[in-house]
Amino acid sequence: MAPTAPPPDTPKVPRRAWLLFLGVVVANILLVQYCAPKDEATTLPWSRFRQEVANGNVASIDARGDVIAGRFIRPVQWKDQRDTTATTPRSVTTFTTTVPAFADPGLEALLAAKGVEIRVVSTQEKTSFVGMLFSLVPTLLFIGVYLWFFRRLARQPDMGAGLQGFGRSTARRFDTTSDTKVTFDDVAGIDEAENELKEVVDFLRDPGKYTRLGGTAPKGVLLVGAPGTGKTLLAKAVAGEAGVPFFSMSAAEFVEMIVGVGAARVRDLFRQARENAPAILFIDELDTVGRARGQFSIGGTSEQEQTLNQILTEMDGFSSRQGIIVLAATNQPDLLDKALLRPGRFDRRVVVNLPDKTGREAILAVHTRGVPLAPDVRLATLAADTPGLSGADIRNLVNEAALLAARREQDHVTQKDFLDALEKIILGPERPLLLSPEDRERIAYHEGGHAILGLVVSGADPVQRVSIVPRGQALGVTYQRPDSDRYNYPEGYLRARIIGALGGRAAEELVYGTKTTGAENDIEQVTQLARNMVTRWGMSTALGMVQLAPRENPYLGTVAGFPGPHPYSEQTAEAIDAEVQRIIAECHAEATHQLTVHRPALDRLAAALLTRETLDASEILEVTGLPPAPALRSVKRPG
Ligand code: ADP
Ligand code: ZN
Repeated sequence: MAPTAPPPDTPKVPRRAWLLFLGVVVANILLVQYCAPKDEATTLPWSRFRQEVANGNVASIDARGDVIAGRFIRPVQWKDQRDTTATTPRSVTTFTTTVPAFADPGLEALLAAKGVEIRVVSTQEKTSFVGMLFSLVPTLLFIGVYLWFFRRLARQPDMGAGLQGFGRSTARRFDTTSDTKVTFDDVAGIDEAENELKEVVDFLRDPGKYTRLGGTAPKGVLLVGAPGTGKTLLAKAVAGEAGVPFFSMSAAEFVEMIVGVGAARVRDLFRQARENAPAILFIDELDTVGRARGQFSIGGTSEQEQTLNQILTEMDGFSSRQGIIVLAATNQPDLLDKALLRPGRFDRRVVVNLPDKTGREAILAVHTRGVPLAPDVRLATLAADTPGLSGADIRNLVNEAALLAARREQDHVTQKDFLDALEKIILGPERPLLLSPEDRERIAYHEGGHAILGLVVSGADPVQRVSIVPRGQALGVTYQRPDSDRYNYPEGYLRARIIGALGGRAAEELVYGTKTTGAENDIEQVTQLARNMVTRWGMSTALGMVQLAPRENPYLGTVAGFPGPHPYSEQTAEAIDAEVQRIIAECHAEATHQLTVHRPALDRLAAALLTRETLDASEILEVTGLPPAPALRSVKRPG
């Protein structure tokens, strides 16, 4: 959907902005001119005022509360007796004075007799100065907004020219011919995506080859994946492998801009790429401007639409023969405007998944290339310990471990450094908190409850660590992790998770008979899981295999709500709630039952936690004397 008239080359916006700004300045000057008092009124003593009234020399007065301002008919010579520096009397025409508390009975009659014009100003009204300030508020606001805006503009890189650079793209260019270029060697663990992009590299190396054989070369490729999976890295590597320049910008930058700027920048970015073709053009966070139109929130609409339209126009405007390939990244492909996905635009989609265990090991290898590792470091074990971590997380892990080793004044990074760094990344940094002995004991039982259930409920993820050291928002942590990457979750496993998560509260109830707020996070997780079992995974016989909630965005790990009212009846809504509550109640009963049975182990674990604070997997088994959790029994159905 191209705009009907091509926008002019220089955006209109800056000129308009300048005019507005000038207008505001002029208006302010005028306001100040007219509102400022012309000649300052002299404060006269009451007696002198009374005397001039009697002389018939007062033309008019404005009375406001106990203050009278007025004007004489003929100027009055007056010298303040208290002012020793004044040598000659001043000539006074406008004056103010204050009405005495003892009032002045004869004054009113005298004023009338002398024909003085009297105006009374209500004290309810704001004083003229305050009034002026109020009338200035909108103007001041305007100025504020513009100053903010210009400051922002000035902060943009390559914007030294101020408004001159308005609409110029802030595309970052990477010189891919230098030694620092990124290649496929720097990308690991996402081989499928890498292979799919090899074709793009081939094309960029020899754009003629494709067209010679009559094939159509790719034009736009959408990289879809969770944050930190290496989409940007991959795009850079494609440019590096092909030896072509790489231009990139983040679509999110456009969102806050004023209308017209995003479009102008897109135009400029494509122009730069054309001038340097063959080239890679990378647009990060495409979904921020590429959302299906009509879904925008009020306010940002036109800017995002204009930017999106401009991207579409530019994509249509060059032929793939020119040797430009546009790569765009998103983690919300479902939200993209369908127009973006049409043939000749982003018609190819490359999914960049979170790395599996082998992938994580390969990424660890890439990022530890320049790191001196101690002989005890086992990358394979680390890879097994880090399910769910993205490439960016792994880079972060290596970095943290190296920093730790440096702080510990070691020459090499050891396995322990890695594990401590991992703990910090997964569980959050330790937070010094002064807790009372009672609180510590309660937390020890709470975490102990989670941990015991992780040992005794079949199907539960093995307990790796339990700790009562406060970290981040948590007062204690029980860390459970599967032995291998999981892609499919049996119902029994989900129940084991819910039972385990309820173990903290169950233990507190068992030992103290009271509840605390400490279970908030557990309750949140449990509710989410139980609700998903009912509404998405067909695990409630009462409701059956009916989809009652939208699919989770696999790239974000979040559940988006149904737009508008949910597509089921109120009875169904009630049934869902009842089923969620039933599952949680059953699991809570099971948690309480198991903890009652294993109370001696729970007491031992809580006591050990109070003295040692953190226990690892083998210490937990030793202290509790319990075997690791049995696996779920899988029943093979005949037939
Ligand atoms: P995305 O664009 O998907 O959000 P990035 O490409 O910006 O992720 O990843 C950030 C950093 O994380 C990269 O610069 C790289 O150092 C590291 N990284 C991410 N994925 C990988 C990977 N598959 N292989 C090696 N390093 C990776
Ligand atoms: Zn808990």
